Amino acid sequence: MSRADPAGRTAQADSARYLTAGLPVVHGFTTRAGGVSGGPFASLNLGLSSGDERAQVEENRDLLLAELGFARAQVCAFDQVHGDRVLAGAPSWFEEEADAAVTDDPDTLLVVSVADCLPVLFLDPASGAVGAAHCGWRGTVKGLAARVVGELRARYGARPEELRVAFGPAVAGACYQVGPEVVERFADAGFPAAVAWPDAEPGRYRLDIAAANRWLLAREGVAPGHVHDLGLCTHCEPERFYSYRRDAGRTGRHWAFVSPRRPA
Ligand SMILES: [Zn+2]
Repeated sequence: MSRADPAGRTAQADSARYLTAGLPVVHGFTTRAGGVSGGPFASLNLGLSSGDERAQVEENRDLLLAELGFARAQVCAFDQVHGDRVLAGAPSWFEEEADAAVTDDPDTLLVVSVADCLPVLFLDPASGAVGAAHCGWRGTVKGLAARVVGELRARYGARPEELRVAFGPAVAGACYQVGPEVVERFADAGFPAAVAWPDAEPGRYRLDIAAANRWLLAREGVAPGHVHDLGLCTHCEPERFYSYRRDAGRTGRHWAFVSPRRPA
């Protein structure tokens, strides 16, 4: 089912393989459904570093791209390193190290891989430019989402208050335990204390990555009402999502994707 936004643009609809967040461009967050992998990787595992068989991962990637109408030569995917580099998203198939990309080319599909980390998608309605970021705690503490906003401003003249942002499924704060050294990094970087709180287990904490990214975006001038969080926890839904933490690393990877292209 599709629906039109106030400007008459049609939002991308959900499919069996992915969830959407109401943006009027091709975008989505994949689930486990609709692929060929088995066992702990069942079924739409899109990551090679998972331990799954390469042929199955490659077939899953082709199945998704065929559904979206993109060829591999049109994809901008990169080796994620928990840094803060934002690529100007020319197509490239895992050739560069980065954790985010931006583009205004409707023939390019930006892709980030996740399995608990927060995938963040961006759209500048004025220029049509988009962005995608892989926000784990390290990228978040380095301000990765703010860097994407900066790139959209610098390259495409985006106004932060007009940006639309979507948060996909990720491990929720209530399910994300970290040590004091992580909380200290957030405090040192100026994040509000409310992004973390003491765990029932002494000396441990819970960290809300989505809240930390909302704070980063608000500081850049993004309107809080323009940040749409699907509010889904990967850790809590084993049927629907992979979770690196829940499954102790033996699990698949989701893709979050976005293109300036209008939905068909
Ligand atoms: Zn959870």
